[in-house]
Amino acid sequence: MLTVGLTGNIGSGKTLVAGVFKTFDIPVFDADLEAKILLNSENIKTRLLEDFGSGIFINNEIDRKKLAEIVFNEKASLNKLNAIIHPAVRNRFGKWLEEIPKRPYLIYEAAIIFESGFYQNLDYNIMITAAEETRIKRVMARDNTTREMALIRMKNQWPEAQKCKMADFVINNVNSELMIPQILKIHNELTALSGKA
Ligand code: ATP
Repeated sequence: MLTVGLTGNIGSGKTLVAGVFKTFDIPVFDADLEAKILLNSENIKTRLLEDFGSGIFINNEIDRKKLAEIVFNEKASLNKLNAIIHPAVRNRFGKWLEEIPKRPYLIYEAAIIFESGFYQNLDYNIMITAAEETRIKRVMARDNTTREMALIRMKNQWPEAQKCKMADFVINNVNSELMIPQILKIHNELTALSGKA
C-alpha cells in the first residue's frame, strides 16, 4: 500500500480535502488530531511537566492556549514540544497501519510534513494551496479568532511556493467545486501507481 502525505498551511483545507479522500474509501490518519489526543495521555503530560513546568497546567490538564502561546512565540519551545509529540504520533501511526484495511494507498494528513522532514518517509506528498488572505479569513471564521492570532500560527510554517516545489501533487483549493476534480485526478493517478508498486 502506498503512503501519501497530505499537507497545506493553516486554513488551506486539509480536513476538507481529507474528507473527500475518505469518500473514496481511502484510510486517512489525522496526525494533528492524534497529537491533540496525546496531550491528554499521562505519559506525555509527565514529559511536558518536566520540560515546560507546571505553568502550562490547569487542574492537572494541559492548558492548550498557554502552551500554544509559548510555542508559537518561541522557536526553541516549539522544537522541544515537537521532539516529545512527533515520536509518539509516529508510534500511533505504526499501530494504526496494522489495523486498516488494504487499499491502493493511505493518506497521512499533517500540517508540517515538510518542515518536520516526515515527507521523506512517505511515497508521495500532496500539497494544498490557497491564497494567504483566503486562509486567514477561513481560520478566523472557523476558530472565531482574530487576524493577529491566525497570523501568529501561520508564521512558523514554510511559504507555500517552497512546499509546492517539494510536493508530487498540488491541489489549489480556491473553491469546493474546482477542488473535487483535482482530487479525483490524483486519486486515479495514485491508484494506477499503486498497481505498479
Ligand atoms: P488547520 O491547519 O488549521 O487544521 P485545515 O488545512 O485543515 O486547517 P480546514 O479546516 O479544512 O483547513 O479548512 C479551514 C476552514 O475553511 C474550514 O472551516 C473549511 O470548512 C473552510 N474551507 C476549506 N476549503 C474551503 C473552500 N474551498 N470553500 C469554502 N470554505 C472552505
